[in-house]
Amino acid sequence: MASANRRTDPVFLVENRDGASDFLIVCEHASNRFPDAFGDLGLSVAVRQAHVAWDPGALGLARALAARLDACLVSATVSRLIQDLNRPPQSESAMPARSEIHDIPGNAGLAPDERLRRTEAIYLPFHAALHAEIARRLARGRPTVMVTIHSFTPVYFGKPRAVEFGIIHDADPALARAVLASARTMTGLDSRLNEPYSAADGVTHMLRLQATPYGLANVMLELRNDLLLTPQDQAAIADRLAPVLRAARAEAPSRAGKPAEASA
Ligand SMILES: [Zn+2]
Repeated sequence: MASANRRTDPVFLVENRDGASDFLIVCEHASNRFPDAFGDLGLSVAVRQAHVAWDPGALGLARALAARLDACLVSATVSRLIQDLNRPPQSESAMPARSEIHDIPGNAGLAPDERLRRTEAIYLPFHAALHAEIARRLARGRPTVMVTIHSFTPVYFGKPRAVEFGIIHDADPALARAVLASARTMTGLDSRLNEPYSAADGVTHMLRLQATPYGLANVMLELRNDLLLTPQDQAAIADRLAPVLRAARAEAPSRAGKPAEASA
């Protein structure tokens, strides 16, 4: 049964592949699904539904944004606690034994073979599928701007967070700065650069792996999850963010598809 599940349950979902937008939206913490092949990691239902297992509201927001922008959306279908697709596979936080205030029993003392099994079942197919979308777009000469959508908990280690909209960059800050400037004038959200996390916290693996090598303009967006509780909330935030992304895109065009600087 487990092997049948693995064949019939892809670990990624590609929606609106032929969307006309330059934006390519990625939601790697979209799901709190724990497939039979990996079990529930010894977690209660409450922990499996908590923010440590996924980014609540992020998929709904990503879909609402993809609809407004006519963008392709690539999302994950497995909990980040089984494997976090935004961490390199050797990292402790890719399969954390503890996440915020919760122990994750099924990740304690993981054997290298189990780390490899998860990486082959989840990380490699997801990143290969996303890479394929990017390579196909670039082969057709389509400008591509990568935007990853996340949510964060309003209270972390017991401390409330004031920031509502975090805009995070990796090596290339151009799009993030343009999003910040537009967000501050257009959304009314408490918008901040590189909060509540930054590249220094190791959260930009996705951008570093999939966007930077191609010179794609890219940004990671983090919304406080109490702003995304219902589909109506998610649609309302998408209504505020879609114009911000369009304006930022105009400010910080993608370099991809343009002639690279001369090199050997
Ligand atoms: Zn996330």
